[in-house]
Amino acid sequence: MSNTAPSSYAVPSQINPPQRLLMGPGPINADPRVLRAMSAQLLGQYDPAMTEYMNETMDLYRGVFRTANQATLLVDGTSRAGIEAALVSMIEPGDRVLVPIFGRFGHLLREIAERCGAEVHVREIEWGTVFTPEQIEQAIIEVKPKLLAIVHGDTSTTVAQPLDALGVICERHGVLFYTDVTASLAGNEFELDAWGIDVATAGLQKCLGGPSGSAPISLSERAVDVINARKSIEAGIRVAGDEVSASPIRSNYFDLAMILDYWGPKRLNHHTEATSMLFGARECARLLMLEGIPQAIERHRLHGAAMATGLSALGLELFGDQSVKMNNVVGVEIPDGINGDAARAAMLNDYGIEIGTSFGPLHGRVWRIGTMGYNARRDTVLLTLAALEQVLRRGGVKVTGGSGAGAALDFYDDAASPAAEIPNAFSTEDAAAVVI
Ligand SMILES: *Cc1c(COP(=O)(O)O)cnc(C)c1O
Repeated sequence: MSNTAPSSYAVPSQINPPQRLLMGPGPINADPRVLRAMSAQLLGQYDPAMTEYMNETMDLYRGVFRTANQATLLVDGTSRAGIEAALVSMIEPGDRVLVPIFGRFGHLLREIAERCGAEVHVREIEWGTVFTPEQIEQAIIEVKPKLLAIVHGDTSTTVAQPLDALGVICERHGVLFYTDVTASLAGNEFELDAWGIDVATAGLQKCLGGPSGSAPISLSERAVDVINARKSIEAGIRVAGDEVSASPIRSNYFDLAMILDYWGPKRLNHHTEATSMLFGARECARLLMLEGIPQAIERHRLHGAAMATGLSALGLELFGDQSVKMNNVVGVEIPDGINGDAARAAMLNDYGIEIGTSFGPLHGRVWRIGTMGYNARRDTVLLTLAALEQVLRRGGVKVTGGSGAGAALDFYDDAASPAAEIPNAFSTEDAAAVVI
């Protein structure tokens, strides 16, 4: 009598989300072309068309990460799945790992590395600042880690740790170099090979203009060797001659040794690729390559600077070391007398615009406003500034009418940058026909 099904229940209506302009630190509105790609019909896992799409996706992401790494693929799951796959596949219990922390996502790296059984050593600095290469090298000398794990752009603080000098340091001390580039990739300069990075992981929902749910990853040969040394093909698909390790990777789903064989010529039957996410991830990278990486970075720089200019003109104080600010997100101090959450609610309810709150030590102190991916545009910047001006005014802050959007408009006039627009964002033409 207690386990009967309910006799009737209301079936919810179709998905029909309200119109929102997502100007927080991610996720952002997906490029409609990415959503269209994701609505394509499914294919069998080993259909030649599917494996061809997989190979094309690997090649596109080599371009995105700026690498020649053969081992460039997608981990199914949000960005955190990529981080976890990278760390669990490289770390053996007892390994020493160094995590320099300058924001929330550094804490996440520490958390995951600890759960992998690593002996984790952290260095922490104030949120809004970054480490010098000397500080990192000193910590490496003290800790002698197997792996350095560090975030590139940390959306929680809006600053990006410069990575270009760290590869040489890691090389000098025989340390593997992992970085989380989820928030920075495609909107800020990033050079996997030239900067000597072994492993980088990302997601789609920041500057790549897609939904969350797929985690691009690239691994150097050195990292692949470390991972393959623990290769253990699971029972049920194992055949004579397949590897069985005494120290297998402590996750099956995130076992990159097996996942690499799934994406490689062996086509090992691991998980079923998340086909619709692969279509989306492929389209994100394809659109980026059509726009051009330097052009996309310049677009993020331009609109990020226009937003920061407008916010300053509204009298708001920018948060963090502006010399290392990410192009795609800006933090502002919430003015005295304004309730940050109530103001965010007014932005959402009156204008349909979402801006971000902050975590940890910055909660209630700082808003984070993004201009990334598909939303790194002039119209989104101007609308957000115009709306925020009214929210501030009604909250009792003295603002000069039109000052925020006006300053951004003046900024755009002076900048006159050719990178201002996403190519063909509102056209159904394939950009390939126009841009090349
Ligand atoms: C946004 C962000 C993530 C997001 O991880 P998800 O698993 O996709 O939620 C990870 N790392 C950094 C640095 C980010 O800024």
